Amino acid sequence: MVMEEESDCDSSDDSDMTGEPDSVDPEWFPPEDIEEEDDYMEELLPGASPQHQKYVVDEERLLNLFTIYLQKKLAKLAGLKKFALVAEWMRSILYHLYWCAATSEGDADMLEARWKSMCNHIANIHVHENPLFAKCKHGPIKRKWFEPGTEVYEKLTDILLSKRFMKSVRKLSPDSQTSSLEGYHATIIYFAPKMYHFGYATMISRLQLAALHFNENGGRDQAKGKHGVLQFNIAYPKYKKMDGYSLKRVLTKCTFGYVRELQTELYQMVRTGTTFEPEKAPPPLSSLYQHPSKQEVIEQHKELHRYKEKMDKRLT
Ligand SMILES: [Zn+2]
Repeated sequence: MVMEEESDCDSSDDSDMTGEPDSVDPEWFPPEDIEEEDDYMEELLPGASPQHQKYVVDEERLLNLFTIYLQKKLAKLAGLKKFALVAEWMRSILYHLYWCAATSEGDADMLEARWKSMCNHIANIHVHENPLFAKCKHGPIKRKWFEPGTEVYEKLTDILLSKRFMKSVRKLSPDSQTSSLEGYHATIIYFAPKMYHFGYATMISRLQLAALHFNENGGRDQAKGKHGVLQFNIAYPKYKKMDGYSLKRVLTKCTFGYVRELQTELYQMVRTGTTFEPEKAPPPLSSLYQHPSKQEVIEQHKELHRYKEKMDKRLT
C-alpha cells in the first residue's frame, strides 16, 4: 500500500497558469455511459433536475464523481457509532484510489489488483493473492486495523468491492483525452475570463496565447518528490464543508518558451521596420439579423394581441 500520504503530500507552491488548482477532472473516471453517469448523479444529488445535476458537474471542476460517490458511501457507514473506525480510514482509502489510478497506467488488471489489496491492507495483511500486486509497498505502519469477519469489515469491503464500483475502478486512467480537453478549456478561461468583454482583435490574441501556452504545458507530468514518489496536494474547497476535500495531482512547473519566441519575433520586426496589420474584425453577428423599424414591431405586437383576444373570446 502507499505511504505518500505520510511523506509527500505537503502543500506545494505550484503556480498553475490555468489559474485554478489542477484538480483531477471528472473525466478521470469516465463512467461507462451517460446512463451510468446519471445513476451516479441521482445518488449524489437525489431529486435534482438533470440540468442541475449537469450544472454541478460542469461548474465544479473539483467534483470527482467516483471519489465523491465513494466518500459518501464511506461517510454514511462511518456515521454509525459502531462503525466509527471507518472514519479513521476514509482518507487513506480515498488516497489509495488516486494512487491506483496514478500508478497503474490505465492497466485494468493492475488497477483491480491494487484496489483489491486495500481489503487486505486494512486488516493488517500486506501480502496479496494476486501476483500482479503481491505485496504492499509501504514500510511498517502503526494504526488501528480492522478485524476480518466483523460486521464493520464486511460492510466496508462490500462497498470497496461492489461490482459496480470495481467496474469503475478498472477504467481509471490519468491520461484521458477528455481531461486534456477540459484542461484546454481552463487555459482559455484563464487568458480570456468570461466576466470581461474583449474586442475582436484582443480576443483572437488571447485565444492564440492560450493555445501556445497549452501546447507547451498541456502534457506536463506529475511532479515527483524524494525517491520518485508522485506528489499530491489536498484541497479543502469551501463547498465541501467540514471534512470534505479533494486530492490534486501536483504537476511539474510550467515553462514559458513561447514568450521568449514571441519576444524574439517582436524585436526582429522592430529592427527590420516590419509593420503588422491586425486582422479586420468581421461584422457583429447581430448585423446578420433583420432590423425592422420600431413602428413595425409595435404594429406586429398589437396585431398579435388582437388575434389572441379574438381567440380567447371564441373559447369562452
Ligand atoms: Zn499494506
